[in-house]
Amino acid sequence: MKIVMLGAPGAGKGTQAKMIAAKYGIPHVSTGDIFRANIKNGTELGKEAKSYMDKGALVPDELTVRILLDRVAQDDCAKGYVLDGFPRTIPQAEVLDAELTKLNDKIDFAINVDVPDENIVRRMSGRRSCPSCGATYHIVHIPPKQEGVCDKCGAALVQRDDDKEETVKNRLKVYHEQTQPLIDFYEKKGVLQNVDGTVDSEEVFAAIVKILG
Ligand SMILES: [Zn+2]
Repeated sequence: MKIVMLGAPGAGKGTQAKMIAAKYGIPHVSTGDIFRANIKNGTELGKEAKSYMDKGALVPDELTVRILLDRVAQDDCAKGYVLDGFPRTIPQAEVLDAELTKLNDKIDFAINVDVPDENIVRRMSGRRSCPSCGATYHIVHIPPKQEGVCDKCGAALVQRDDDKEETVKNRLKVYHEQTQPLIDFYEKKGVLQNVDGTVDSEEVFAAIVKILG
């Protein structure tokens, strides 16, 4: 079972990918994790990727694809995998498709965790974190006992730059421009499945399990 997860940053697709991996016994392949692993292990691919990152440049699609294909060729991926964070663009999706076709294989499900932008902005901009111990809160969903103060260590909570409304809106804009076309791509292939991502994560997961069987 080969699955691609789609959804905006903050939609919760990483959480769902982990739950799918655990239930179906297939690896959760997150591009972030495989980049870090290749760099940490000093592989040739990792060295190449690092040379771009050190310059502050984006890792080219072609290299990202090679790192991904190297990962899914490993034994533990033989029965399937859940891709999280890949493909991000149409060229990446096309290369993945072409490589899988060569192996007489294909993506079985593209699961789009659908959450309207307003909800994502509300979710993310309500996050607060403790600069001292790393605990995280949400002003509505997981509020600290005393407003603005960490329950665990008493430090003043902050809003990370990543969680500021403007940053979130910019990320969503990039997402819609770049990743939204992937939804159309997988729809044309007949493998797209939309799930409502506005409900709690257990309910989202139940909907996904219904689709995967
Ligand atoms: Zn703290």
